[in-house]
Amino acid sequence: GLPRPDGAASPALDAAQRIARVQIETAAALELDYAIPEKLERQIGIGTRVMVPLQHQRVSAVVIELLESTEYNAKLKEIASLVGSRPMFTPGLLKLANWISDYYVVPVNRVLRTMLPQAVREKPETFLTDSHLKLAKEPPPDVFEKLHSTAPMQARILEKLRSNGGEATLSELRRELPRATAIIKPLLKAGWITRSEVRVERDPFQTEEFLPSQPLTFTEEQKVAYEAVIVAMNGKVKEDPAAAETPAQDARTAVRTHPTLLLHGVTGSGKTEVYLQAIAEVLKRGQTALVLVPEISLTPQTIERFKARFSEQKDAIAVLHSHLSDGERHDEWFKIHEGRAKIVIGARSAIFAPLEDLGLIIVDEEHEPSYKQEDAPRYHARDVAVVRGRIERCPVLLGSATPSLESFQNASNGKYELLHMTKRTDGKSMPLIRIVDMRLERRKGTEVSFTNTGILSQKLRNAITDRLTKKEQTILFLNRRGFNTSLGCVSCGETVQCQECAIPMTLHKKDNRLVCHICGARRVPPSKCPSCKEPGLKYSGFGTERVEQAVREVFPQARMARVDTDTMQRKNQLRDTLKDFRAQKLDILIGTQMIAKGLDFPNVTLVGVLNADSALNLPDFRAAERTFQLLVQVAGRAGRGEVKGEVFVQTHAPHSPAIQFSRHNDYEGYAAQELEHRLAFKYPPYAHMVLISARGKHEAQAEFTLQTLHKRLEQGLPEGTIMGDPTPAALAKAHGQHRFQLLLRSEKIRVLCAHIKRVVDGLSVPADIYVSWDVDPMNV
Ligand code: ADP
Ligand code: ZN
Repeated sequence: GLPRPDGAASPALDAAQRIARVQIETAAALELDYAIPEKLERQIGIGTRVMVPLQHQRVSAVVIELLESTEYNAKLKEIASLVGSRPMFTPGLLKLANWISDYYVVPVNRVLRTMLPQAVREKPETFLTDSHLKLAKEPPPDVFEKLHSTAPMQARILEKLRSNGGEATLSELRRELPRATAIIKPLLKAGWITRSEVRVERDPFQTEEFLPSQPLTFTEEQKVAYEAVIVAMNGKVKEDPAAAETPAQDARTAVRTHPTLLLHGVTGSGKTEVYLQAIAEVLKRGQTALVLVPEISLTPQTIERFKARFSEQKDAIAVLHSHLSDGERHDEWFKIHEGRAKIVIGARSAIFAPLEDLGLIIVDEEHEPSYKQEDAPRYHARDVAVVRGRIERCPVLLGSATPSLESFQNASNGKYELLHMTKRTDGKSMPLIRIVDMRLERRKGTEVSFTNTGILSQKLRNAITDRLTKKEQTILFLNRRGFNTSLGCVSCGETVQCQECAIPMTLHKKDNRLVCHICGARRVPPSKCPSCKEPGLKYSGFGTERVEQAVREVFPQARMARVDTDTMQRKNQLRDTLKDFRAQKLDILIGTQMIAKGLDFPNVTLVGVLNADSALNLPDFRAAERTFQLLVQVAGRAGRGEVKGEVFVQTHAPHSPAIQFSRHNDYEGYAAQELEHRLAFKYPPYAHMVLISARGKHEAQAEFTLQTLHKRLEQGLPEGTIMGDPTPAALAKAHGQHRFQLLLRSEKIRVLCAHIKRVVDGLSVPADIYVSWDVDPMNV
């Protein structure tokens, strides 16, 4: 047998298995064989990271296989050393890496690098330590007496230890006595105290208290959903045909299969409660659970709900997301790796958490586009979750109020099991959705000022006034930050654009700068048109900063806060603002996506969506789907308490299907209509897509490269493939580079990818042109 992944406890290697096949982590993907030196025999197993000699260098690598012999006859070089004391990849994760490498067509070593947080990869096991000091023996009374006069500081430390039950950490002492490090030296020497190094965890929630929460009594719908999850956890035993040939082993070789479940539950139907109780059952069975949530929903409130439920077991939950410091992420990761954390909650990359014996994987808000990584490896965490579930033999639970059409289709055709929750808990009704036609509003806008009317319709203003009187709360949602979204010339019609990205720059009034929301470039607003040199530039379009000003003008008495990446810079600022809002110290919350998801404020009875069309106007085949999802999600923030909620959707396209279906919260109606459209044009979920891009400083070269590629792809193009022509990308220029793209669609994604890989590998691309591809792209 192979050594167990936890090397420390592993038996000695089979005498014969003295060769390790490794995957080189850096540079090109290479599989090489190395001899295992005797001194490392006991520590090396599959998934161990090692340093190996390669062309006069030492490089890091991962052991992927142990062998008795190899086809290379030359004398093998030896593994130089270990990185980390135990394997960092479980066998399951290594399999997952191979799947990602195959499916998304990326070198496997690139995937392996992605799987570990940077701090873990580069400085594994660098924990913060502190000295733990203990009173070893009491000095005789007369000595102690003398110490008070000769070395009062030393005496004070001894007193402190005494009063503290005989122990303290050095950092505690240093808080009172900054020179404690030096003062304890003679005490150590005299043998009165002892010192040992202890690990100090960098815990992002160190100072938080979580009030324990009890499981709620399920509603009928929750109960049905929960029981389906438990049945899935138990799995179905499938006879393995290979098992029949070896009857003695059949009990072990019969495999259990666990389905993927899609929980379609309206906002407020209590999906999270189902997750919590399912996880409790997983823990009871001694297994572990992984919960993915979109980065944007990793709000303190979400984490709090999990921490509160599992508060008895210290360390039971590890959290992984991008707002942790490197040190915190390192420590959280090792909390999982060492088996202390049984539950992991995290964003996209947490799908690679090194949990063993997984009992359940949950992907909340499975429709969220942010599950897709936009750099290589361009994986979709939801799809990777489904594959990890298959590899680890555990069920996967996808949850959403507005499932992606891909998942909905998989449920409709029986690949996934569909669960429904159609009612809010306590039978509260869905909020009333009112569509406000802004085309009419603009025509009649007279009072206050025209611009404010364009931002807040009369109807919405009346509703806000009403809520202020009743002391109920309002959320105003807008997808754009900044003050004005463009600055245009009245003479020639040009807008002021970012030189590098060719998109209009947004005014941020607080620091009076035009900012590019793609590359972050900033400039002072020009007083004359950069193109025709005439004065008379005019701002148009509005963002959250402008909305805040309008709301302050119209409702000077209201207490409000704005939540977007501009205002939420300080650590804990988001958490504090949401706390204030929940405590009703604020009347109105204005914000971007940061407030669209997962928040639950019982006193919010009004939600205003200020520009519902902003997503609809994106040049993306999923634009309508995104708009529908966004409206339903935002609407879900209203009326979570006793009072029925009301939502005002301001739009210039009141009759578009996305807006009409969201008004009745009619997911099925919407999906049927949209799927028909997708089928007619062979878009996902009826085909997979691959988006090939070429970018570079030279426009002509980038375009030419893609045209050449297009021609070569045509030869031997797999049957059933639809290939478009090379076109400028939706974002035709970004970061100073011109971008072109080529879209291919096919039902047989693997055959298509193999063809693309063959052609791209054989293509000579100019040095400063970068060609990449994206399998199942989200932004098209
Ligand atoms: P979802 O995740 O589906 O949007 P939540 O899990 O956030 O819904 O639940 C919405 C609200 O209903 C929360 O305040 C939650 O505490 C409450 N809730 C959930 N399940 C129950 C239940 N069985 N009984 C009473 N209240 C519940
Ligand atoms: Zn830019």
